Amino acid sequence: MNVIPFNDLSRDSLEHRHAYQHALDEVIQSGWYISGPHVSSFCEQFARYLAVRSCIGVGNGTDALEIGLRALEVGLGDEVITVANAGGYSSTAIALVGAIPVYVDINEHDHLMNVELVSAALTKKTKAVIATHLYGSCVNMQRLIEITSTAGIPILEDCAQAHGAEVPVNGCLHKAGASGTLGAFSFYPTKNLGCFGDGGALVTQDEQLAQTCCSLARYGWRHKRYMVSDAKGRNSRLDEVQAAMLLEKLPRLDAGNERRREILQRYVHAVSSNEDVLMLQADDKRGVAHLAVARTQDRVHFQAYCDHKRIQTAIHYPILDHHQSGFSPIRVGSDLEVSERTNSQITSLPCFPTLAEEEVTYVCDALSRYRLSWNP
Ligand SMILES: *Cc1c(COP(=O)(O)O)cnc(C)c1O
Repeated sequence: MNVIPFNDLSRDSLEHRHAYQHALDEVIQSGWYISGPHVSSFCEQFARYLAVRSCIGVGNGTDALEIGLRALEVGLGDEVITVANAGGYSSTAIALVGAIPVYVDINEHDHLMNVELVSAALTKKTKAVIATHLYGSCVNMQRLIEITSTAGIPILEDCAQAHGAEVPVNGCLHKAGASGTLGAFSFYPTKNLGCFGDGGALVTQDEQLAQTCCSLARYGWRHKRYMVSDAKGRNSRLDEVQAAMLLEKLPRLDAGNERRREILQRYVHAVSSNEDVLMLQADDKRGVAHLAVARTQDRVHFQAYCDHKRIQTAIHYPILDHHQSGFSPIRVGSDLEVSERTNSQITSLPCFPTLAEEEVTYVCDALSRYRLSWNP
């Protein structure tokens, strides 16, 4: 077996090369490269897919988080509750608006925010909660909404790893991004819905909030061009080329997600009687398996084993936010025991839609045979 790549975007690109080239050519010929028909059409279709009222294209996922926080009027000295194990994107956005991240711990089985810890972390300064749907699985939105709504605290969903994931709220299934106050998406190439560069979006059911996001991402021009109505506006846009590519990819998102789920389930099954490795998995099966994350006692050993088997791995994420020297000030809102203990145990395995059947079988075989006693 050749090396099993952690990801290989060229497989999809080559398979659909002509469609992408055609879409690109259309944009080139149109002479319209920013805020044109492809962006409008993509935002309309993505909003329909998610069943939300509005979708605003922005430059990337981190901009979406930052602009989202500003639209929620989070500013200097305010607190935003989030988790420490999600790669630092929330902390970056929180720092950019001058606010303070407050970290709560994660669940043992899925490494998502333990929402039961949110109440105790609330203070008079709390202005928002960022719920990161990590690895493709959704935070318990039902409980989080119950906990935050009495305090009137808005929820910003970070959906950068969860395009198309579903979460039950009040007996109805909602797409990730549709049940919070705002949803932030990234279309970075490796995401479940990715473009050929940077891209992002904000989604909401709230028309007022949509207009504020739109203005903040367009220099603060709320009412008309060149008239600055909102302070702290900036420029952050999805462009026509990226939107044209996303329009090609959106119809295949569900099939890609289904394949990812299938691969994750194969890995889960492969380790079901192996006590030396565990696959993270949310309770329900409505996640979109952005990443397949294994947990082992000795990660250095496990990665050496994968290396030996020529299976590429990665770590999401190697450093917890509250241990990063670049994030300050911060506050710890609960004991972070699970985050701390598991941080050195996680390894991400290849999980992307174009992974071939024999590659999946090969990884399954390697996973089922892994032993802590293995010697190279
Ligand atoms: C990728 C990602 C982001 C940031 O997206 P960019 O487009 O790279 O800025 C934010 N949050 C999470 C959870 C991500 O995985």
